[in-house]
Amino acid sequence: MSRRAPADRALQDDARAARLQGDGSDVLIDVRDMTKVYGTGEMAVHALRGVSLTVRRGEFIAIMGPSGSGKSTFMHLLGCLDRPTSGTYRLAGQEVSRLSRDELALVRNKQIGFVFQSFNLLARTTAEENVELPMVYAGVPADRRARRAVEVLNGVGLGNRLDHLPSELSGGQQQRVAIARALANRAPMLLADEPTGNLDSASSTEIMTLFRGLNRDRGITVVIVTHDVGVAAWAKRVVTFKDGLIIDDRLSQEAAPTPEPEGPAGGAPEVRP
Ligand code: ADP
Repeated sequence: MSRRAPADRALQDDARAARLQGDGSDVLIDVRDMTKVYGTGEMAVHALRGVSLTVRRGEFIAIMGPSGSGKSTFMHLLGCLDRPTSGTYRLAGQEVSRLSRDELALVRNKQIGFVFQSFNLLARTTAEENVELPMVYAGVPADRRARRAVEVLNGVGLGNRLDHLPSELSGGQQQRVAIARALANRAPMLLADEPTGNLDSASSTEIMTLFRGLNRDRGITVVIVTHDVGVAAWAKRVVTFKDGLIIDDRLSQEAAPTPEPEGPAGGAPEVRP
């Protein structure tokens, strides 16, 4: 199909960008002894108590753990949205744990694409314009923005929905727009916080298939926070938090329990790869 050509070219460009960004090292994330304390004195909450994690380029990781175990705090820090209380964080070879807020914003724009549970699309703005937004902040000229937006929306299978508003799209389609937006600046890493939390099981499978394709075919590093073992089973590695610490870190097949034969009624996750 002739319509595949631009998407294929974009795919190769993305793979090259994912390989070349940063210092050329295989390690994308290098976190050592990270702590995060909210508040002070008797009110202090020790959300992270000394977390170390190394993530290589091209990994696909699920972060799991009970509510309050520190997952969101850790994702915020990985996403350069906040700074740790102590410890170090090298992202693509750059020590980012002591950068100013403005410097962190620059790192975010270049290195990280965010995907949220609630999609966070602008309501009165078309799919194409939503995808263009991070490129506006990055100073990309209008004609290149438009071309790139069409390219990435084609890449997520929404080339025929460019002019649609979020309200005219299904939940799964809205999340695909959000993923296209996260890919717009060719960041080597996607950070997704409960990306299937608002979706039915068919749409969840669609979104996880997309993440898997982006990881496998474009070399994009994917880190997903989820409480759903079925979603986590799509990842290659599962890291589990408890009480502000990593208590388990293993390859996905070992981590995922075998599906229950009686199906969802027996508690088995529905969204398995
Ligand atoms: P999870 O994402 O696993 O549910 P969080 O990272 O949200 O865990 O929370 C870890 C701990 O830190 C919890 O005890 C939570 O109440 C606390 N916490 C999170 N954010 C803040 C904040 N901004 N101020 C104070 N305490 C917080």
